[in-house]
Amino acid sequence: MNIPIKGFIENSLLEWEGKIASIIFLPTCNFLCHYCHAPHLVQTPNKLESIPLESVTKKLQQSFGWIDGVVVSGGEPTMYKELGELLKIFKDIGVLVRLDTNGTNPYALKDLIEKDLLDCIAMDVKAPLRKNKYEEIAGTPCNVEDIVNSIHIIMESGIEYEFRTTVCPSQLDQYDIEDISMSIRGAERYIIQSFKPNHCLNTDMLNEKPYSFEMLREFAMVAGKYVNYCCVRGDEGKVLSRNW
Ligand code: SF4
Repeated sequence: MNIPIKGFIENSLLEWEGKIASIIFLPTCNFLCHYCHAPHLVQTPNKLESIPLESVTKKLQQSFGWIDGVVVSGGEPTMYKELGELLKIFKDIGVLVRLDTNGTNPYALKDLIEKDLLDCIAMDVKAPLRKNKYEEIAGTPCNVEDIVNSIHIIMESGIEYEFRTTVCPSQLDQYDIEDISMSIRGAERYIIQSFKPNHCLNTDMLNEKPYSFEMLREFAMVAGKYVNYCCVRGDEGKVLSRNW
């Protein structure tokens, strides 16, 4: 297996709600989101040293019983055909596995779910599901049908999941959030998060002022009409809206 690991956080209480999780970061991505906070992983991964898989598995084994799971993030992890082999190694250690994905590879998602290699999926829904708009935010051509298929596969999977959208004022407004929410209608969990004007792939974003927290909460209230649970990242403890 030839999957480089470019980042490893031994434990985090914040990444996977209710769980203590390690996080690994795999390089390269098929998107070029302007607000991406991991341009080093997306654009210049070869400049980063790789972390040997053995040292990651050793840490996970040593932490067994103390951490709950491992989050496999990126970049876009489904870029790697052998991703299932990597996830199987983690599952065999006995930890839960969450995959972070941009949803562009529904075939990989279906395969990993069928092989019982995932305990949770966090998928970005970056924009309303219209080709022009999606490509504008993703910064590259993409097949929106794949995104739609991934949403359906995840919602029908029976495993834990969340959808999430990163918002910045020049790209998405309240109506876009409502549009996205309608396309994931009935979803268990939808998280809205602000872009941060630092370390962005497109340096023009560094000059952009994010939405206020209050504005994001208003977005979450609107989205909450369509999904079972919606909140702003960092505000998870507070239930702003439930569809019951
Ligand atoms: S933010 Fe966009 S470009 Fe960055 S890793 Fe995620 S999908 Fe890829």
